[in-house]
Amino acid sequence: MIKTRFAPSPTGVLHVGGARTALFCWLYTRKMGGKFVLRIEDTDLERSTPESVQAILDGMAWLGLDYDEGPFYQTQRFERYREVIEQLIGQGDAYYCECTKQRLDSLREQQMAAKQKPRYDGCCRDLGLRPEPGKSMVIRFRNPQQGVVSFDDHVKGRIQVSNEELDDLIIARGDGSPTYNLSVVVDDMDMDITHVLRGDDHVNNTPRQINILQALKAKIPEYAHVPMILGDDGKRLSKRHGAVGVMEYFDAGYLPQAMLNYLVRLGWSHGDQEIFSQQEMIDLFSLDELNRSPSSFNTEKLNWINQQYLMSQPLPEIVALVRQRLDRLEIDYDHSLDLAAIVDLYRQRVTTINELLDSIDYCFRDFEAYDEKAANKVLKPAAVEPLQRALEMFSELQSWDVVSIHGVIETVTVELEVGMGKVGQPLRVALTGGSFSPPIDQTVELLGKQRSLARIQRAIDYISNND
Ligand code: GLU
Repeated sequence: MIKTRFAPSPTGVLHVGGARTALFCWLYTRKMGGKFVLRIEDTDLERSTPESVQAILDGMAWLGLDYDEGPFYQTQRFERYREVIEQLIGQGDAYYCECTKQRLDSLREQQMAAKQKPRYDGCCRDLGLRPEPGKSMVIRFRNPQQGVVSFDDHVKGRIQVSNEELDDLIIARGDGSPTYNLSVVVDDMDMDITHVLRGDDHVNNTPRQINILQALKAKIPEYAHVPMILGDDGKRLSKRHGAVGVMEYFDAGYLPQAMLNYLVRLGWSHGDQEIFSQQEMIDLFSLDELNRSPSSFNTEKLNWINQQYLMSQPLPEIVALVRQRLDRLEIDYDHSLDLAAIVDLYRQRVTTINELLDSIDYCFRDFEAYDEKAANKVLKPAAVEPLQRALEMFSELQSWDVVSIHGVIETVTVELEVGMGKVGQPLRVALTGGSFSPPIDQTVELLGKQRSLARIQRAIDYISNND
């Protein structure tokens, strides 16, 4: 059975890179009918926070990346790590080391001066030291001194490292706590992880982890180290490129499906297809199509994908998101408004839910002021007559539907012998406060009779007062 894990350290929010790794793990397990494990690597007690754990869980929930096992917390597994460390000592694969910081520092300096790679020289390797009360000693893994560690990385191809290059790494600190490489190995082994997908900043750890796994007679998982994500300036993606925490994209009004679609393309491709339904992603995903070179985060492309999803997702889903936002912003709107029709009319004109909300805000509350440019250009004395005629005819309309409304506007243009713009534009500014909106007859219809009449009157008054 295929099993992958996403193993974030809870030292910040779930960022774009982490979310992408989680997505790849999730896709692979869903495709293979395997299991996806969430493991919180919280052994760094100083930098791990409960808020970060929550942020990771929130991010995964928003993206719909559900896991089959976990979340497991490494801080709850210290006893187990201790047990494995004892086992390694017992079988001669680990040893106590009493080298002081001073000794290690001067060793490093000498090696650097001799242009050698800094590495532990194995000083305590064969001393058979035992723990002594009151003395703080680290425990090191006895790395094989001969041979080669090799593995076939799904992204990077074959990787071979000679054991001579690897020194005896610390697996337990002076206070007995396990180091990253030890706890990862124990967890990957105990959790029967078959595929390790992670960022390529960990690729140098892999040969060491394989050696420890071998000492424990554990099965070696397959590895896929994915390249990092760059900002559009070619530098490693970071805060200064704007939002990097996935929940910031939620706040900004992106759709989770669009985010997933964007993330999957950021490091994986299938021909030149851009839009993938969730099922397509699952069906088509393969480790061997992961990109070998870093990908660049491109907000414009994310916007484009988001817009595609805004147009293609079922309308009730988009309406629900809009409603959620309205509630969040405590915008009390008139429930007689046909929200679904309004959203449908606007969704192809905007990039995000937030933008959509901004564009339709005039439907929910009377705008405070007209857009200055639009008012100066359109709300002039010449507009009073068309507005007045429209107001009269609208108020007599029996049926408030787009055909009748269109009929009124047309009649006004005929009666006054003016072009459509001379009636439509004043109406548009009167009703929406600005000069952009979908077709005016539809806008009038959606706004409803009462609101439309009141706003036309308001515009007439505004022109008279400014005259
Ligand atoms: N906890 C590590 C990190 O957040 C990941 C470890 C791993 O995937 O092996 O970078």
